[in-house]
Amino acid sequence: MTDGFVPGVVVPAEVAGHRFLHVVDGSVFIDEDVDVDVDVDVEVGQAHFLGMIGDVAQWAVDVPDGEDPSDGAALDLRSFFGRVGEEERLVAGRAVQIVEWARTHRFCGRCGEPTEPIGDERAMRCPRCGLAVFPRVAPAMITLVTRGAPGPDQEILLARGVQFTVPMYSCLAGFVEPGETLESAVVREVREEVGVRVANVTYRASQPWPFPHSLMVGFRAEWVDGDIVCEPSEILDAGWYRRGALPQIPGPISIAHRLITDWVGELD
Ligand SMILES: [Zn+2]
Repeated sequence: MTDGFVPGVVVPAEVAGHRFLHVVDGSVFIDEDVDVDVDVDVEVGQAHFLGMIGDVAQWAVDVPDGEDPSDGAALDLRSFFGRVGEEERLVAGRAVQIVEWARTHRFCGRCGEPTEPIGDERAMRCPRCGLAVFPRVAPAMITLVTRGAPGPDQEILLARGVQFTVPMYSCLAGFVEPGETLESAVVREVREEVGVRVANVTYRASQPWPFPHSLMVGFRAEWVDGDIVCEPSEILDAGWYRRGALPQIPGPISIAHRLITDWVGELD
């Protein structure tokens, strides 16, 4: 896996081999020994070319309901993500999202006609009314809020969301609303979730987050004023933390981990 993943929609003329990522419900299973007749599966819309790693074509295969070539060995994406490197995560996340998109866009959302794939684009089109649909990506912002001047006394705001199953503290996050900029989503979400006002929102990094089709856009923001008042429907607890006294934070596959550890590393 040293060549890197190159996404694509049209299979190149020269392909040395094929690799199939079977999507069983929302789980993935990779096994070179499972027979796939790729031409047939493309024809019936069950195989989706994802791109190339080196000269090997990467495919997402939509496993029909009730079938399971893995005999139960398919891993849900979160478990899979914990066992592989970043490139494998990107390919598997893409596979599940493309398959799920194709499954849920078989009919036109405007007129109900069966849709057809547009050959050289990742899109489906309605032959009756012409509506074209593309894979959905839902932008969500995630932000590390700092308080105080950079240095050993600077603090960060970490919160425990109501959905966390372990006592873990993370950055604040939320979906971007229609008509909103990413920066204004940061300001709004922080205010809604913990009641404080922030400014100087700066972009740090992004990460595809296929649960089910988000793009996490990571920011840093600076506290302006206000005490923490948690919105109880979203936040169980939140507080200001210094380096060396951090609570349990999310694991390394999440962008929150990177936002927090980058900040911690700034003093080194
Ligand atoms: Zn239509």
